[in-house]
Amino acid sequence: MALNPQQPVARLLVVGGGMAGLGAALAVQRARPDVAITLLEQAPEFSEIGAGIQLGPNAVRVLHDWGLAEALARVAAFPQRLSVRRATDGVTLGTLPLGAAVQQRYAAPYATIHRADLHTLLLRALQEGPAALYTGQRVQRLELQPDGVCAVGSDGQLWPADAVLLADGIWSTLRSRLLGDGAPVFSGHVAYRGLLPLKDAPTSVPHEEVVAWLGPRLHGVHYPVRAGTWLNVVLVVEGPLPQGEPPGWDHEATRGQLLQVLGPVHRELQALLDAVPQWRQWPLFGRAPMRGPHEHARGRVGVLGDAAHPMRPYLAQGAAMALEDAWTLGRLLPPVAQPVDWPLLLQRWARWRWARNARVQSRSRRNGSIFHAQGLLRWGRDLALALLGPRLLDQPWLYAGPPDPRAAVGGQG
Ligand code: FAD
Repeated sequence: MALNPQQPVARLLVVGGGMAGLGAALAVQRARPDVAITLLEQAPEFSEIGAGIQLGPNAVRVLHDWGLAEALARVAAFPQRLSVRRATDGVTLGTLPLGAAVQQRYAAPYATIHRADLHTLLLRALQEGPAALYTGQRVQRLELQPDGVCAVGSDGQLWPADAVLLADGIWSTLRSRLLGDGAPVFSGHVAYRGLLPLKDAPTSVPHEEVVAWLGPRLHGVHYPVRAGTWLNVVLVVEGPLPQGEPPGWDHEATRGQLLQVLGPVHRELQALLDAVPQWRQWPLFGRAPMRGPHEHARGRVGVLGDAAHPMRPYLAQGAAMALEDAWTLGRLLPPVAQPVDWPLLLQRWARWRWARNARVQSRSRRNGSIFHAQGLLRWGRDLALALLGPRLLDQPWLYAGPPDPRAAVGGQG
C-alpha cells in the first residue's frame, strides 16, 4: 500500500538507542511502516561498549525473523560447544553441544558476537526505514496527557507522541519516576572484562567454544567474537562496590586489581588472564524480578529492556530479553492502516512479557549462587554436572523462545 509519511497513523517515541530501543523501533517499523517512529539517544553518537555478548537461539531467532540472518552470520561466531570447568584445578565438569545440535533443536544457532557488531546490525536495519533517529537528545521527563505523552528534553524541546517506549537502560530515571520504585541496587558482584585477538591467546584456549570457569565466589567465561577472530573474556568476583566509582558500568581496571580479588586459579585460566592487554570493570547492579505487568506498562508508556528488568548476566539473556520484548510488541500490533489503541496494546504486551522476564531474572540470580558455590553446594553442583551435564546446561523453556501472540488462539491477550 502507498504510505503517506505526512499522515502517519500514530506517533511513537522511543527513548534510548541501546539494543532494547533499536530492537523496539525496528520491530514496530517492520510491522507498521505507517507509524511515525522517533528515537532519542542521549549520547552524542550511537555506540556500544567494547565487549562480547552471547545470543541464545531464542535471541537469534528474533534477528532471523527481522531478516538479519546473513548480516549476523558475517560478524558473529557460532561456537560448537559449551564447556564448564572448575576454576581451581581445570577439571571439566560438563559440556553441552552447541553448533548443529542447537540449530536442529531450536531452529536457530547459538551465537557469540561483539556488542558493537550487534548494535550496528540493528542500527543499519533501522536506518533503512523512515524512523527519525536523533543523538545528543536526553529526555528529562514525561508529561502524561489523556490522549498522548509528551517527552521533555534536557534542552527544553518537546517531543509529543501517542505513546512512549522507555528503553533507557538500567539507570533509567524515567522508569523510577513512572513506577516510583527507587534506584537499582548493587549485587555484591563485580565483572572484569577484556578482549584480545585470538591469535594472541594461549594455545590452550579453544577457538570454537564457550568456556565457563566456576570457582568459589567467582566465575569466568570466554568465547569468540568478531567472526571468530577475537576472544571476549569476563571474570565475575564477589566483593564490595569499588570505592570512588560513580554508579554505572564500564570503568577502567588493571590486571593487578583483578588478580588481587581473584586468588589462585588453574594455570590455563591464569595464562589467558595474563594475555588480556586491557581490563574494564563493571560493578553489577540489579532489581528484584518483575512482580507484574504494571512494571512493563502504565497507560501510554511501555518500559522494556534493562529499564524494566535488569538482571545478573549469569544466564546471558539480558539483551536477548530486550530483543524478545521488542519482537513480541511487533507481533501484537494490529495490521497496517488500522488504528492503534496504545494503552490496550501495551497492557496486552506487558501481560505477554512480564512473567518470562521475571523467570529469567530469578534464574540468572540463582545461577550466580550455583556458579560461585562453596562447600557442600559446590560438591553437589559438580556431581550433578558430572551425571546430568547436557540436561542441566540446556534450557529448553528459554531457548525455544517466547510464545508468539499471533499463534495463540484466545491467548493471554
Ligand atoms: P542500554 O544498553 O543501557 O541502553 C540504554 C540506552 O539509553 C543508552 O544508549 C543510554 O545512553 C540511553 N539513555 C539513557 N537515558 C536516556 C535518556 N534520559 N534520554 C535518552 N537516552 C537515554 N545479555 C545477553 O543477552 N547476553 C550476554 O551474554 C550478556 N552478557 C552480559 C555481560 C555483562 C557483564 C553484563 C553487565 C550484561 C550482559 N548482558 C548480556 C546484558 C545486556 O548487556 C543488557 O541487558 C543490554 O545491553 C540492555 O540493553 P538496553 O538497551 O536495555 O540498555
